[in-house]
Amino acid sequence: MKKKSYLSGVALLCLILSGCAETVPTTIPETTPAISTENIAKEEEPQTTIGNIIDLDGDGVPDEPVTKNVIPLTEPETTLPEETQPTQTEPVTTEPREARTQTPTSSNEETNPVVDLPTAPPTEPDTPEEETQPATTAVPANAVSISAEVSGTHYIGSSLGAADFTIKVTMDDGSTLTNPPGWYAAPLELTGETTVITVGYKDITGTVTVTATEKPTTPATEPETSEQAQSGAYTRIVREDGAILYDIGASVTVCVDAGHQAQGNSAKEPNAPGSEVLKTAVATGTSGVATGIAESVMNLNVALKLRDELLSRGYNVLMVRESQDVNITNITRALMGNTATICVHIHGNGVDNQSVHGTLCAVPTTANPYTTAICGDCTMLGLSIVNGICGKCGSQNRGLWGTDEMTTLNWATVPTTIIELGFMTNPDEDVLMNTESYQVLMAAGIVDGIDAYFAAN
Ligand SMILES: [Zn+2]
Repeated sequence: MKKKSYLSGVALLCLILSGCAETVPTTIPETTPAISTENIAKEEEPQTTIGNIIDLDGDGVPDEPVTKNVIPLTEPETTLPEETQPTQTEPVTTEPREARTQTPTSSNEETNPVVDLPTAPPTEPDTPEEETQPATTAVPANAVSISAEVSGTHYIGSSLGAADFTIKVTMDDGSTLTNPPGWYAAPLELTGETTVITVGYKDITGTVTVTATEKPTTPATEPETSEQAQSGAYTRIVREDGAILYDIGASVTVCVDAGHQAQGNSAKEPNAPGSEVLKTAVATGTSGVATGIAESVMNLNVALKLRDELLSRGYNVLMVRESQDVNITNITRALMGNTATICVHIHGNGVDNQSVHGTLCAVPTTANPYTTAICGDCTMLGLSIVNGICGKCGSQNRGLWGTDEMTTLNWATVPTTIIELGFMTNPDEDVLMNTESYQVLMAAGIVDGIDAYFAAN
């Protein structure tokens, strides 16, 4: 019953963008709507779901459109060559807004709220220029008080980022400003269990006390090749299949797959058990348009933080990889995941349009014959996680993408989702996602979602 109402909410959240988790299929179902001016015009209507054709993998093959959470698995009719460049269209913006808990009151809805904030205080907040400026220009009212909240889980020795803060400034006319341009905070380093941080805006200041905890013990940097290595609170086991188990004696084990690897593997493998559709064993992945960082590197950096966060919240963790120098096919990754309770595949997204940003999760549809037993749970897991990330990070919530083409989903027998953290082709999001403090936030948001998933089950 609970599941039913949950699923009906899912339909509203389902969006049209696809992920770059794997090589997208070279076939497009006959239900794919043609790109036309009519379709583009319809995108203005928020209630309408239209098929976009977007190549999120950057491999030159258009991804298929998604309408709600259901993609009919009809016989493919058209076959596109690998090199075909699809027409790009603007993204649809029907994503829910309620998950953006840290949205500032400033004007631009489309701007990611965490991008524009300053990360370091000005060295001299009370400059003479500031004092001589009449208070009649940008802000007619005078600021009278400032308060701040700091969200997220923080570790001693780490630093805060702008995304961690929600700053509220109260003006003498009773109005308030949230995260107004020009706010600052210092210090940002968390050196102990509590750190008193000064926040300021123009000539007013306030303080906020941030608590931090000891960072969970991390294993030796080199993967163990021996059978077991006792370290801290968990037992680290490198299994015969190469997966690395962190066992704290919990009843739930979360498999974490950092998508891709240093070198792709162009061998072909069936995208589902018994399927004749062959897909690349491991795609190369995308890369950061601003940072130049490979998606596989970013995925691994987030996966390692996710591992630590999961352990600190009481889950066993099964890591598909902890190194770039591996060769693990998508089927193998799925089979590793099937030995855990649930599985998450960590990816970054890519699309030709650099303005596109936001977070989504890919899940199988109800029409998928290979995932009938887990489809509902995959949907609940994906929805919980995308809401968890967006709630923690303030990224644009693109909801769920239903797809029946992904090898890592089709081979799954336990609840599984592909997490597309954000778009590495959006310069701001690329920089953000490759920032240490933001990666900690993303990991915390994923575990928020996993906590919510198990709380509801
Ligand atoms: Zn990917």
